[in-house]
Amino acid sequence: MRVELLCTGDELVTGLITDTNSPWFEDKLFQLGVKVERVLLVGDVRPDITQALLEVASRADVALVSGGLGPTMDDFTLECAAAAAGVPLEESPQAMEWIRERYAKRSLPLNPGAFRMARIPRGAEVVRNPVGSAPLVLFRLGRCQLFFVPGVPREYKALAEDEVLPRIRAALEKDSERVYRAFRLLKTVGIPESQLDASVAPLVPRHPQVVFGFRTHAPENHLKLMATAGTQAEADAALAAAEAASRQVVGTKVFGVDDEDYAAVIARMLTEAKATLSTAESCTGGLIATQLTAVPGSSAFFIGGAVSYSEKVKMAWVGVPPEVLDRHTAVSREAAVAMAEGVRTACGTTYSLSVTGYAGPTGGTPEDPVGTVYCGFAAEGHPTHCERFTFVGDRERVRLFAANSALELLRQHLLSRASVP
Ligand code: ATP
Ligand code: MG
Repeated sequence: MRVELLCTGDELVTGLITDTNSPWFEDKLFQLGVKVERVLLVGDVRPDITQALLEVASRADVALVSGGLGPTMDDFTLECAAAAAGVPLEESPQAMEWIRERYAKRSLPLNPGAFRMARIPRGAEVVRNPVGSAPLVLFRLGRCQLFFVPGVPREYKALAEDEVLPRIRAALEKDSERVYRAFRLLKTVGIPESQLDASVAPLVPRHPQVVFGFRTHAPENHLKLMATAGTQAEADAALAAAEAASRQVVGTKVFGVDDEDYAAVIARMLTEAKATLSTAESCTGGLIATQLTAVPGSSAFFIGGAVSYSEKVKMAWVGVPPEVLDRHTAVSREAAVAMAEGVRTACGTTYSLSVTGYAGPTGGTPEDPVGTVYCGFAAEGHPTHCERFTFVGDRERVRLFAANSALELLRQHLLSRASVP
């Protein structure tokens, strides 16, 4: 089944609002195994809407058309549908009755605009809108089943969910060419997108029912796996095989799946390990603490941290010896180690993380240019570990990757600890 979405409204093509209805509906459809083939945004121009309706109807089996069903003069989507089909608009007595009732209930005077909402193309069907005045309109254009819904998100969602989706589901049941889909997002950190692509590329020919896709969501890279098959069980099995093979090559760089959140994954691991954490952050200015404390229940593991930005605070709050700063500077392996150890001692935690670096755009030294970051990780009973990173990009990007890389030292430690019996 080929499904397309058509959204009308000048506000959608003039930067006033973004189309949030379509992604919502795409997700609902995808849960039924239907991938939307195309989404079209068209301004309030009659010939453009008419043309778009004809184009959509020539390609799709089902189309959801939204916006322009209201009572105002810029609402003329149904007029365009009638023009596209070459039929007149007619007043629907049923829709008139619903509109009358709704206006009476709210003690609103009935005006000519209200009646506009009851004018539908000849041959169309109406379905009552429980949360608004303009009804859902069902209309066939050629071989395409069109559903016209109001653009107002509350009305759109109510009608799409309760009236349109069940009809699509019923049509799918009868569709002899129906395909079933299974989807998985494997979320990774610490592996560039090109490397992720190169690692899984050899798997692609061995999994012909699965489409491999990539998405960057800095600092994360996501591998999208979508299996298509003749039955749900077959799609699930194809997906499971591709996922297992991908995990094999990407390894522990995969931190989660689907809507799992990186900080939440670390929070869960720390909580399960009954471990506590403290942080000493310089160039990240508290980003690590912000991310972790955004997770509900973070008080179970996060004891606290210092934004030890200046040398003064590095010495006074997290006990970095002045000699370390004098000899190695504040952006050094030695400073990162001292910060991690100092904050762990001060807070009495199982683990601690530290970050110090040059986020830019100015600063840096010939040996440690802008983008250089040292991340420290101290753990009870282990030698303190420090890694040096070189990040490219602006200040925000360097800080984001720095916070993530520090957290990754902790996550990898927790993983290796969990794998030891
Ligand atoms: P109304 O009765 O409000 O006129 P309508 O069906 O004519 O409803 P529009 O006039 O196109 O719909 O849009 C109404 C409002 O709904 C817009 O001002 C906008 O805020 C919102 N809206 C419309 N389309 C979308 C969309 N695709 N995504 C998010 N919001 C939308
Ligand atoms: Mg309108």
